[in-house]
Amino acid sequence: MIDAQEFAALAQLPESLLTAYINTNPGLPTNCRAIPGYTAWLKTEAKHLLAATGHMKGSVLHRQVERIAEYLDAHRPAHKGVMILAGPDVWQVIPLPTEPHNELHWGRPHLWQLLTIMERQTPVCVVALDLAGVRMYKYVAGSLSQSGEWHFKVETSHWRQKERAHMAKQGTRMPHGAQREAFDRRIEAEYVRLMHDVAKGIEAFCERESIDRVYLLGSDRLTRHVQDALPQRLRDSLVCIPRIPRGNTEDPASEIKARVESHLHAYESDRKAKIVEELLNRPRGIVTGLDHTLNALQRGLLTSLTVVESADPKLYECKDCGLVTASAGSRCPTCNGLRRPTSLQAVLPTLLTRHMCRLEIVTDRAATRLKSVDGIGGRLRMLKRQPAPVYRSAAAERAPRVARRA
Ligand SMILES: [Zn+2]
Repeated sequence: MIDAQEFAALAQLPESLLTAYINTNPGLPTNCRAIPGYTAWLKTEAKHLLAATGHMKGSVLHRQVERIAEYLDAHRPAHKGVMILAGPDVWQVIPLPTEPHNELHWGRPHLWQLLTIMERQTPVCVVALDLAGVRMYKYVAGSLSQSGEWHFKVETSHWRQKERAHMAKQGTRMPHGAQREAFDRRIEAEYVRLMHDVAKGIEAFCERESIDRVYLLGSDRLTRHVQDALPQRLRDSLVCIPRIPRGNTEDPASEIKARVESHLHAYESDRKAKIVEELLNRPRGIVTGLDHTLNALQRGLLTSLTVVESADPKLYECKDCGLVTASAGSRCPTCNGLRRPTSLQAVLPTLLTRHMCRLEIVTDRAATRLKSVDGIGGRLRMLKRQPAPVYRSAAAERAPRVARRA
């Protein structure tokens, strides 16, 4: 798979591109024939696309179809799927870790399905915490790798002797009452300090690895202090998981991997349900509905955007300034430029990349709930002062970058 930077480069590619998502899973019986099922599909779908776009045999679109067909014939990909971008000066093949829906698009790079696959493969920082110490892991695409471990040391030697209940010699009178409470308070304060250090470690790790999801395994006594000390962007997507005893497990990583994977779907469903409920309760700092969310996104005001996976309403995009709105009309309300029809899924990958906004895609029950506000909403950045709206010219922005890519 590709990373966020490579994705951003794809979003800048020129128009007049053929985007193909092809299920090449060699495990499918239809793909094991002499002529694989995807080859037959491409032939049929390309005919429809050529007819729908008015392209003839020998046209630029027809040549890209032929390139893709030749590539598939020569390589017979061993991956579950591939995404191919083909244009006069562009050729990119991206192996996919999951089976895609077969799709063929002509025009701007159609990155929505790639974005949904990437969203499901988003790496997670997994932190296992107990009174003895902390271990930190990166979990991505079914693989868990440990990245750090440290042990806690609560220094009590300088504390007054009468408070050291746990160190009292046999036969001496155990502290009790106010003394015991004072000792417990100091221990608790030490752990609060340690948990703040853990939060700083998590923040640094997530920054380094470009991760924005954290699963915290541990008792509430510890995790709540880490949660309090994390920055808002990590708190928003935090999942706290009660820690189970290690038991006789030789390898703590395998225990944690099993623990995370057995409930991964449930954790993600709960996390997304929580995000949607927050959007619907509309506290300060939230926008919902198609018009308001699109407006805030293009003003650079959103830190995250949540959308129903299947939502793809028709939109209009200004050919001059690039402003995208849901309201119909041939002229742009901002610059009076000509507009063209488009759709949410066609423009969202570029807008999210351009405005550095995180994406959360929801399905199932959370999607049903979010549909009451057009299936879309977002969380605003914490800004002291809102910037004036700046809509960049799509044409002017793409041209120089295309030259570098080609
Ligand atoms: Zn305009």
